[in-house]
Amino acid sequence: MITLRGKGVSKGVALGRLVFLERSAVTVEKQPVSDTAGEIERFQAALRTAAEQLDKLSTEMVEKIGKKNALLFEIHRMMLDDPDFCDPVIAIIERERLCAEYAVMEAGKRLAQDFAEMDDEYMSERAADVRDVANRVIAVLTGNQSPVSSGNEPVILAAPDFSPSETAQFDRSLVLALVSQQGAANSHTAIFARTMGIPAIIGLGASLSPGLAGKQAALDGETGEFCVEPDPETVQTFEKRREQFQKEQRELEPFRGKPTVSPSGQRIKLYANIGSVTDVEAALSGDAEGIGLFRSEFLYLGREDYPEEDVQYESYRKAVELMRNKPVIIRTMDIGADKQVGYFDLPKEENPALGMRAIRICLTRPSLFKTQLRAIYRASAHGNVAIMFPMINTLEELRQAKAMAREAREELAAETIPFNPETPIGIMIETPASAVISDLLAPESDFFSIGTNDLTQYTLAVDRQNESISAFCDTRHEAIIRLIRMTVENAHRAGIWAGICGMLGADQALTKTFLDMGLDELSVEPSYVLPLRKHIGEL
Ligand code: PEP
Ligand code: MG
Repeated sequence: MITLRGKGVSKGVALGRLVFLERSAVTVEKQPVSDTAGEIERFQAALRTAAEQLDKLSTEMVEKIGKKNALLFEIHRMMLDDPDFCDPVIAIIERERLCAEYAVMEAGKRLAQDFAEMDDEYMSERAADVRDVANRVIAVLTGNQSPVSSGNEPVILAAPDFSPSETAQFDRSLVLALVSQQGAANSHTAIFARTMGIPAIIGLGASLSPGLAGKQAALDGETGEFCVEPDPETVQTFEKRREQFQKEQRELEPFRGKPTVSPSGQRIKLYANIGSVTDVEAALSGDAEGIGLFRSEFLYLGREDYPEEDVQYESYRKAVELMRNKPVIIRTMDIGADKQVGYFDLPKEENPALGMRAIRICLTRPSLFKTQLRAIYRASAHGNVAIMFPMINTLEELRQAKAMAREAREELAAETIPFNPETPIGIMIETPASAVISDLLAPESDFFSIGTNDLTQYTLAVDRQNESISAFCDTRHEAIIRLIRMTVENAHRAGIWAGICGMLGADQALTKTFLDMGLDELSVEPSYVLPLRKHIGEL
């Protein structure tokens, strides 16, 4: 038995024969041409054929992968007209006097590379789409258009990587699961696999070699475990997991698209937490009614320098548009503590969790804060946005933060840049201090979202990062419950809503307590939405 571990990107368990995807080999040779005008005409004819294919695909795929996902083929179709793609192809044909298929391959490679190097994670993952479009045009030019084939028995399909259009076109009944050597968690391939309910693991590396083809395999698309030639005991374990997973999924389906309501008729909103725009797909397929916490600081992590206003705006706008008119609550950056960013040059602190973090950074670096507020307000012109400040401790902090928001609005108005002036402004209740003075904070806030992860750390004096003291971290401690209850009561007295966006919101042992308190919203990881709705429906 060989055991490999990759990144599980689409949940589910599969057992079956491993087959390496046979792609009809397309060989592109560097052929010189004398009639460059004729070659350009051949390229343009190939673009027209590829466009017809994509028009057809985008209609056919609506049923299979949903309208939103099928939009990808319209985007691929638009790439065919994009000068960034076409002009370099024509330049290579004209200047280097080379054949069209070689020019498309070269230009496609360079454009894909440009995308791959972009800072924005979403944009860099679009490199796969560029390659996909270029391969389609090459296939037309070389006359090599036989569809990818996986044979006619259901198998676990392996490949170095899968392109988005390949994945979308797989016959679900013939593909038990997908495994690849490379890949990105938020590529369209992973998104489609999740949408189509195909378990998938990416990033298994070169150990996933074609030499394994034909062998039996078992995998778990959640944990990323992949076993080739599993022994009988492992087969049994995976079979049990598969049964359990299928049972759980079947039981969730009746709750999809339904409001969240308890048997006594009490309604509660179930939102999802996301860390980037690429998580929106998971929130939608998890059936979240909105985004209750967009942890915007992830935009600042893993970069060399501050993300500019436009970069942030694009990211927030995309999330808001993808959510259609559902609420998207964007938390302003919570940098510091466990989320350190080199270019912020934060002071070295003994206790960073008690130090310069979140709103404290924003209030001491106003221009940084203003850039983010402007970007969020600009996104508010495209949908249902709310702003949320983290780690508010005093009324004064709230007022200062709101004054910055007002300045951002005034600037945008003066520049005639559209935004929603009514964008709600709420705060996170994450410290005992804010819970205790929630009666003072409520009249000046549009909503409260209780960050129980930090509220627990600060109330019980247990470092949330320190695994060795986890035994002392009683997340259901009566002190936490009382602080939550106090916060909800004060919110309601002031006529605003209150929710929970910390992990405690998904603790089903407390759901009944939360409903009895009258909590209005729970925001949880996307995959917890449906299980929680089911639980509430059956309380
Ligand atoms: C929290 O503290 O509960 C919370 C939701 O914020 P974060 O986990 O990002 O600190
Ligand atoms: Mg927090």
